[in-house]
Amino acid sequence: AMERSVRAARLESLGQLAGGVAHDFNNLLAIILNYADFLADEVTGDGAADLSRIRDAADRARSLTGQLLLFAKREPTQVEVVDLNEVVTGSGELPARTIGADIRLVCRPCGETVPVRANRGRLDQILLNLVINARDAMPDGGVVVVETDLVELRGGSGVPLPQGRYARLTVSDTGTGMTAEVRDRLFEPFFTTKPADRGTGLGLSTVYGIVGDAGGHIGVDSTPGVGTTFRILLPHAAGRADRADGQPLRACPSGD
Ligand code: ADP
Repeated sequence: AMERSVRAARLESLGQLAGGVAHDFNNLLAIILNYADFLADEVTGDGAADLSRIRDAADRARSLTGQLLLFAKREPTQVEVVDLNEVVTGSGELPARTIGADIRLVCRPCGETVPVRANRGRLDQILLNLVINARDAMPDGGVVVVETDLVELRGGSGVPLPQGRYARLTVSDTGTGMTAEVRDRLFEPFFTTKPADRGTGLGLSTVYGIVGDAGGHIGVDSTPGVGTTFRILLPHAAGRADRADGQPLRACPSGD
């Protein structure tokens, strides 16, 4: 337990540091992009191509600082009751540009409402991170299955969560899988096996943080050469109306 809290404190100060740097960088990038825009009207020929390289790099840098800010939880978020099925169904619209032409994305929302108490944007981010990782693990194509269901945790489930009802989000791929060494370090901030221009190592540590904050748990099963399955459990939110749009969520039928 001691080791856990030391780890949590380290992660928190790392998050604050990263967040502070990212925040200042974001402002500087805004200035760079702004002046690049001014120049775009004046520069022609080879200069225009150079300028567009500057813009592309600054855009990439901005997406990186965006990830850092999310990791550092600098953006305030609103928590509401969200149907996990809506998040999953939304991911079905991911463009081929994002998931790749050789990859089939299969969405299997469960037959009933899956209400959880969380921020909608953060849930979208979790799923996007998992799907993008799945894509990156399948350079020769494959299948990603995204599914939801409801589970009842009882004593001795092996998962470090209180007993009760949970919503489960499962993302599995038919990719490369990972070694035990990678699996051990998966959720560490800045741990990545991807080339520097592709991976930041912040995806899963961010997912881990969001899931933990929501009182949930994330587990992973992976077999090299076969594929990987991530399972996220989030406490089931009683189906009462507190959605921003005032639409009451249908009460969830009892699974017992
Ligand atoms: P990044 O994607 O930027 O590398 P992540 O924190 O999302 O950062 O992932 C960390 C590492 O975990 C990846 O670099 C990869 O080695 C491994 N990983 C994550 N998801 C998968 C997956 N579905 N299949 C195989 N390896 C994975």
